[in-house]
Amino acid sequence: MFDLKTLVRPNILALKPYSSARDEFKGDEGIFLDANENPFGTLNRYPNSDQKNLKQKLTAYNGIANNNTFVGNGSDEIIDLIYRIFCNPEKDKALTFTPTFGMYQVAADINDIALITLPLNDEFQINRNDLTSYFEDENLKLIFICSPNNPTGNCFNKSDIEFILKNFKGIVIIDEAYADFSDQQSWQNSFEAYPNLIVIQTFSKAWALAAARIGIAYANDEIIQLLNNVKMPYNISKLNETAAIEALENRKDFEANKQIILDEKALLIQELKTLNIIKKIYPSDANFLLVEVDDANELYQNLVEQKVITRNRNSLVENCIRITVGRPEENKKLIKALTGLIGFKNLSGLNTTK
Ligand code: PMP
Repeated sequence: MFDLKTLVRPNILALKPYSSARDEFKGDEGIFLDANENPFGTLNRYPNSDQKNLKQKLTAYNGIANNNTFVGNGSDEIIDLIYRIFCNPEKDKALTFTPTFGMYQVAADINDIALITLPLNDEFQINRNDLTSYFEDENLKLIFICSPNNPTGNCFNKSDIEFILKNFKGIVIIDEAYADFSDQQSWQNSFEAYPNLIVIQTFSKAWALAAARIGIAYANDEIIQLLNNVKMPYNISKLNETAAIEALENRKDFEANKQIILDEKALLIQELKTLNIIKKIYPSDANFLLVEVDDANELYQNLVEQKVITRNRNSLVENCIRITVGRPEENKKLIKALTGLIGFKNLSGLNTTK
């Protein structure tokens, strides 16, 4: 039997959350003299601390109830909150599969938690054999699975994720920051089958709202309640909540822009394949491509000099750069810049595996 309480830090279980003026009086009408706000201005009032308007829109969009939905200040905040809820500093551990998104490590370091990193196999898939022995460790509280994975771009095999969900007694976080770009089915509705699952998504990618800092978590209501208890009272500004609501009301733009990005990704793959400075293009379920070149540091620098900024991922995957799919004219500029480099002394004439 899964018992969430055995996983939560004792101080968090015992926490009496902050109760704001808006938590104590929920009505919309009246003269508000309760929150020490300024009566003048347009942003003078505190926002809803439970983001109920945004959650209503999300429910209309995906059918997931408010009490299974948490809104964070970007998914980065959610990652940090999960460590703070479940991991006792200096004692507990988390695990992830590398190369992957760097914030799992940074948030672990901030919270003084050891993060075990298991290398993905040559296809950037999870190696199940490595795993089972770790499941026995009762200080291992969290497993972070980034699917589609950043920076590799691929989704992990469903059967491997299921294996972890079924066999690991701690919390499994599936980070679906890039899932909107993928054909693979989301795990967002699976928290009923798996009470230890938290799915994280974000408005920063397919919803084009990175500046608004809106991350979402879906989980069973007990986990969502813990996230609500631990977050800062007004973690989402009214401006940001409104931006996300407007995005959800304007699905046409979302779908149209996503389709352009996917079409551009296919085009970019075609074009990159013709360039012999590109040794390999890894399969991608995301809005970016991980490509292997002969010398990533050199290529990256050359592109910077042409004012085309990619992400040098050489430190994570040898000689790889990560290219985000841009607008059509931006992608053309990238291809032009790369084409211009053919013939450049050390970047030319490579053998290609595409
Ligand atoms: N998860 C992954 C896999 C990411 O790549 C990123 C950002 N690059 C995030 C989470 C953080 O997203 P947010 O903007 O919602 O904090």
